[in-house]
Amino acid sequence: MQLQFVGCGDAFGSGGRYNTCFHVTGESVNFLIDCGATSLPALKRLDIARDAIDLVLITHFHGDHFAGLPFLLLDAQFSRRTRPLVIAGPEGIETRLAQVMEALFENSSKTKQRFGLSVVALSPEQTRSFGAVKVTPFPVVHGESGGPFLAYRIEAEGRVIAYSADTEWTQTLIPAARDADLFIAEAYTYDKVVKNHLSLATLEAHLAEIRPKRLVLTHMSDDMLERLDTLAYTTASDGMVVEL
Ligand SMILES: [Zn+2]
Ligand SMILES: [Zn+2]
Repeated sequence: MQLQFVGCGDAFGSGGRYNTCFHVTGESVNFLIDCGATSLPALKRLDIARDAIDLVLITHFHGDHFAGLPFLLLDAQFSRRTRPLVIAGPEGIETRLAQVMEALFENSSKTKQRFGLSVVALSPEQTRSFGAVKVTPFPVVHGESGGPFLAYRIEAEGRVIAYSADTEWTQTLIPAARDADLFIAEAYTYDKVVKNHLSLATLEAHLAEIRPKRLVLTHMSDDMLERLDTLAYTTASDGMVVEL
């Protein structure tokens, strides 16, 4: 199994990075984690076959994690996709998806797709399986609008991938990511504490409790990107592949 960072940027395109989107592939799985506004061109740039993707997991409804779905769905429609697709995310996802489709492409939410499309709302700490992918969402803390906010603990092919999503420090990140084979954690700032986001210093203070086997930092603002050469941690870059 492998995970490729299709995009690892923040909402502001810091460092010229694409919005958040990770692509996981293996013998029996092919799914995305998040699909931000710029994710379709990012997928195409990496030559990723969109029609092989079975599942998209969404962490929250901010545009840099969610607003790529209308483009992905229209691309699927126009490229005559037939393979069913599941989109799963926080409570309210069905309404939010219809709203963003209508805002960007009027009447597109009413178009009947040629492929089976299921939109599934996930509840915190309730494990769901989608084919060979087992997903447990954990509630995280990321402000007043754009939620509910979910971190994910994902089990597939004998491995555990955890993703913090966007969040300030919250204890739920410990069960979400404990002993994970790969923990992708937001490190928005270096040591400055910013509301609704995680700093590397705060994350660092809790790493001993989380004990990830591998840690990759993502969603970095300029404050972090300016220090990339000096950090003692693996940092994501667009196109980077992690073998699991
Ligand atoms: Zn974000
Ligand atoms: Zn966000």
